[in-house]
Amino acid sequence: MQNYPPPQDLVEREIDAYIRENEKTAGTLRFYSRVYQLQRKWTDKMPPVATRKEQPAERQLSEGRPLLADNALVISEALFNETMSAVVSLAENESLPLPAGDLKAICRSMRAVEFFSDPVNLSMDKLFFFLSEYAGADESVLSTLAFLVRTAVKPFYVVYAREAGEKFSFKIWDRGICPVCGQLPMLAVLSAENGARTLECGLCHTRWEFYRRTCPACHNSDHESLSFFYLPEKSHRRVYVCHKCRFYVKTTVLKDLGRPIIPDLENAATMYLDFLAHKEGYSLFGPGDGTH
Ligand SMILES: [Zn+2]
Ligand SMILES: [Zn+2]
Repeated sequence: MQNYPPPQDLVEREIDAYIRENEKTAGTLRFYSRVYQLQRKWTDKMPPVATRKEQPAERQLSEGRPLLADNALVISEALFNETMSAVVSLAENESLPLPAGDLKAICRSMRAVEFFSDPVNLSMDKLFFFLSEYAGADESVLSTLAFLVRTAVKPFYVVYAREAGEKFSFKIWDRGICPVCGQLPMLAVLSAENGARTLECGLCHTRWEFYRRTCPACHNSDHESLSFFYLPEKSHRRVYVCHKCRFYVKTTVLKDLGRPIIPDLENAATMYLDFLAHKEGYSLFGPGDGTH
């Protein structure tokens, strides 16, 4: 299941709700709205995205391996240059911090298309390593740059995942990583009806159900080493943490919030929780080297 990019009217309504709650989020959320406009334009016109290798998808899923495991997308260099240019222009208009030098030229010289065709390289830890090593980006611009690269490459993954979501229900999928691209989840929601947990991938935006009391990163289900915390006045926004592997996932309780959300926007509006989680020593990288 996937619902990305979200429709404009829903985005506007949600942004208004977040700003009513905290007007300091306005700048970030309006920036997201502009990103969605680009994503809609790109994903609407993009032809189907193929993979490098044919793979027995059903079998792979039943074995707990994501569709893109040991595989990669075929990404058109011309289209990627187009999305990257638009993203760089957007960043310049917003005066976002960028590394010195021409980002598009950097991408060309490091054969970025090839590198970003494999989702393993788009996990946040790999991406941070790559960008600091090859693009010479320092800490101050790393997060922005990682966001921009993922924005430029995202439409290819979204279009692929949309088609995959039409073919497969992912009902048999019982892992904490995305069944399509293998990324760890960006955010979780607990359904208003029965409290079931749905995870959403921050790259291809596939949604899938996963056990509520199991760590998505290391599958630890020992309740003594799993817990969650929240700010007293905002108990519907929790941070589920695993003491074993130190992974955390922000989780919104829809029953308590009283309205459905756009997980991507909720993620952007709740950065204060990431700050708290990092301060407590939890991370979004999960255990191991992030290759899954
Ligand atoms: Zn994914
Ligand atoms: Zn864990």
